[in-house]
Parts: sequence; C-alpha cells; structure tokens
Amino acid sequence: MLPEPLRNKYEMVIGLEVHCQMKTRTKLFCSCPNQFGDAPNTNVCPVCLGLPGALPVLSREAVTLALRAALATDCTVHETSVFARKNYFYPDLPKGYQISQYDRPYATDGKVEALDAGGTRKTVRLERIHMEEDAGKLLHEGFSWSKEKSGVDLNRSGSPLIEIVSRPDIRSSQEAHAYLTALKAILVYALVSDCNMEEGSLRCDANVSVRERGATEFGTRAEVKNLNSFRNVSRAIEYEYERQVHLVEAGQKVVQETRLYRADKDETASMRSKEDAHDYRYFPEPDLPPLVISSEWRADTLKALPEMPSAKRSRFVTTYGIPPYDAEVLTLTREVADFFEAVAKESGNGKAASNWVMTEVMREMKGRGAEDSEASFAVFPITPASLAELIRLIDSGTINGKTAKDVFARMWSSGESPKAMVERDGLSQVSDTGAIEAAIREVIAASSDQVAAYKKGRTNTIGWFVGQVMKKTGGRANPKIVNDLVKAALDLA
Ligand code: ADP
Ligand code: MG
Ligand code: ZN
Repeated sequence: MLPEPLRNKYEMVIGLEVHCQMKTRTKLFCSCPNQFGDAPNTNVCPVCLGLPGALPVLSREAVTLALRAALATDCTVHETSVFARKNYFYPDLPKGYQISQYDRPYATDGKVEALDAGGTRKTVRLERIHMEEDAGKLLHEGFSWSKEKSGVDLNRSGSPLIEIVSRPDIRSSQEAHAYLTALKAILVYALVSDCNMEEGSLRCDANVSVRERGATEFGTRAEVKNLNSFRNVSRAIEYEYERQVHLVEAGQKVVQETRLYRADKDETASMRSKEDAHDYRYFPEPDLPPLVISSEWRADTLKALPEMPSAKRSRFVTTYGIPPYDAEVLTLTREVADFFEAVAKESGNGKAASNWVMTEVMREMKGRGAEDSEASFAVFPITPASLAELIRLIDSGTINGKTAKDVFARMWSSGESPKAMVERDGLSQVSDTGAIEAAIREVIAASSDQVAAYKKGRTNTIGWFVGQVMKKTGGRANPKIVNDLVKAALDLA
C-alpha cells in the first residue's frame, strides 16, 4: 500500500477499453454459428478460416446489436462508417489482418453513468464504439501433446465484437469498478451480450497513468492487458499506480508500453513497447462497402430497446415506493432487478421486498463467494414466489420478524415453502393475549429487582421484560402485543 502522503500527491488517470462479444446467432462476416464451448475448429468456413478468395458479408443482426449498445450509451451514431484492415501477424489470425473500424467508427461520444460503492455518481464519457471481428484462440494445455506444441482453435475467429473506448475520465480503481458494473448492466439490459468475463465475452484493457494532483497535463500511460475479472482490473490498476508513482518519485520516466497482468503474482510485467496505429498499416477494407445505417434502422432499433437501468430505477421508485438509493442498488444487475420486481409484485409490498433483497438476499449471495450476480442467481435456491410468500406471512401477522429470519435461513437449505414450514413446525406468531399474559405474570413474579427499578422510573427496563417474555414464548410472540401488555402489567404491579 502506497503511503498516504504519496497517495495525496499523485492522482491516477484511467481509460478503459472494453471488448464485448455480441450474442448474435452467426459470426460477423459469415454464417458460422457464434457459439462458445464446441469442439475446436468445428464452427468454421472459408471466410473465418481466412482462405484466399473468400469474401466477407456483414451480418445485419450484428449491426443491430452494435446499434443498441450505441443508443443505450447515448452515442452519436454515424450514418456512414467504414471497415478497415488492421494488419498484424499472430498464429490465431489466419488472414494476417483483422477487420475493424478505424478512423470512421459507427459511434462516438457516448456516456455511462457510474455509481460507486460509496453512492457517488460519476459520468464517464465514451470516446467511441466500433465493431470488429474476433481472432481465434491458441490452446496451450489440455491435450496429450500440450507439452510439445500449441493448437489453434478458430471457432472464435470472426465472432462479432464491439470495442467500447472510454475517455481518460476515471480517477480510482473504485470508479473503474463502478464504470464496468454500469457498462455491463447496460449491455446486458440491452440484450447485446451476456458479458460473461469467465467465458471471455467481456474483456478489458486498462490504460493507466499518474500525475500530480492539480496538474493539467496527463502523464505517460501504460496499457495493461489480460484482465479477466473486475477484481483483477482493480488490482492491476492499483499495482500500476504504485509502480508509476515510485518511478516518478525516483526521478525516472514511465515508458509507454503494453503490460500483462499476472493474477497469480498480482503484478504487471512489461510485454512489449506500445504499438502505434501506423504499425498496423490500417487501410479501408476493400472487400466491404461503407456501412450505411439508415435513420429508419436507427429509429426502429431505438424503439425496440428494452428498458435501461436508469429508466428502471425511476420506475421502481414510483411504482413500488422505494427510496432512490434502493432503486440504484437493485438495478445494478438485471438479475437482481428482475428478482426484486417479481418479489415486489407478488408480495404487494415493495419496501419489504427491497429490504429483503438488499440485506438478506445480497448477503447470502456474497457469502457464497459469488462476485458476479449472474453466477450466484444460478445457484440461488429461493424463488421470488417463496420470498413473497414469506413477506405475506409477516404482513398478515402470522409470523414475526425474528421468526421470518429463521425461516429464511432454512429456506436456503431445504428449499421448502415458508408457509408449509410455518404450519408444520408451529411457528405462527403467538398473538393470543392469554398465553402472553401468563408468560408476563411468570416473568414479573420472578424479577422483583427489575420491577422495583421500573417503579423508580427506570422505564427503559421495559425492553428487558419484553426480551424475557419473548424468550418464554420461543421468540414467537407478537412483539407489539408483548410490549403493550408488559407496560400495562408493570403499571399495575
Ligand atoms: P490505443 O488505441 O493506441 O490504445 P487510444 O488513443 O485509442 O489508444 O486510447 C486508448 C485508451 O487510453 C482510451 O481509453 C483513453 O481514454 C486512454 N488514455 C489515453 N491517454 C491516457 C492517459 N494519459 N492516461 C490514461 N489513459 C489514457
Ligand atoms: Mg488500445
Ligand atoms: Zn465462418
């Protein structure tokens, strides 16, 4: 950890480049299935194998998804954009070039509203979004021959990507995390991508530089690659920040370079000196005409855009009467938002639904070590319907809040319906005043000291009496009734 004075002296400046694999049925320029997890080299054809003479044909579906992403992030969509060849050699790139967009991308100047854990809102501007095809993959392990050689899998070759380039607006690793969370939510809500980092459908490169606070010029940046989780993005940024601050403090220069993050060592290491655009010999793709996105196409796509996180937020506030802060948290991911909404609808109690989801549900998910909510909901054993049933049991006075927490914990392991559990185990709240009064009499008879204290004016001992009575009734007494009856009994005692 960098000492506080140095932290105060230097600020970090971060710009993120996010590659997002769009969930189209086919690849970007051919009709091969765009699918993860098949046997190597089964989803290939002359186009995505890069065989001579094969010609690319642009997928309309891919452009529509890309358009959704651009509209959902408030980008300016350009009617005409141009595909370009980015030339480089790598064994997973049989053509020797990648079809991308360069000086005329289809979308520029967007923005993403991020909200960090402390509740601070931050607008990160987007420089551009462009479309490009993915490369194949090298396989270094998992085969009997892996020790001697590597394999090439071209199933991913030609898969449709968008690259979302932020401006260097990000100032901390928390902001980077918040930005990625918000961006991912938008892309998932807009049905552009699953954004599953484990499967590589979301990949992030971080550009990091440091400067003295108050400086107007940016420092020299390093670009860090190989960041395959949000946590690694944050850690790599922190590592880079410290490394660069130490360099500057020692009077040395930060070199512009590409670095690789090594999660096992939690450090970044130099990979190569930063390539410049001219190294790629970009030129317009001669096999594709310029892409024209008509105003009808744009308008139809905009109309069909699903509800975005920000719209959902305000709807939750007005429809379910929950505070704006709750709405923020609940809409961070679509899974949580959908879960909350189903509970709120079925229980008819939005505030209670929000409380349960924001505390118990989220805590349980965190406890299971699930960093990303999509993974945790897959294993979440409680359905919205059963949580709604639990809330209705509380609202109808059948069980009290304490019992509800116990029942919730048991729903986890058994998956049983709360109603059935309450009936079978006799967990209903005791509202029968006779039973409660009997318990109160016993407690009062056995606690003359406390009664005396109450009589002397120590009225806060009432809480102690309520606690004793709750214990005697197995925690199932209606706390409101207990409170009233205890007070009445003490005043008479
Ligand atoms: P390239 O395509 O060569 O990586 P770009 O100019 O497209 O370079 O910038 C890539 C990313 O670097 C953008 O996200 C941008 O915000 C970020 N960036 C540019 N300058 C800096 C800087 N001095 N410090 C941190 N990030 C930067
Ligand atoms: Mg870059
Ligand atoms: Zn193909």
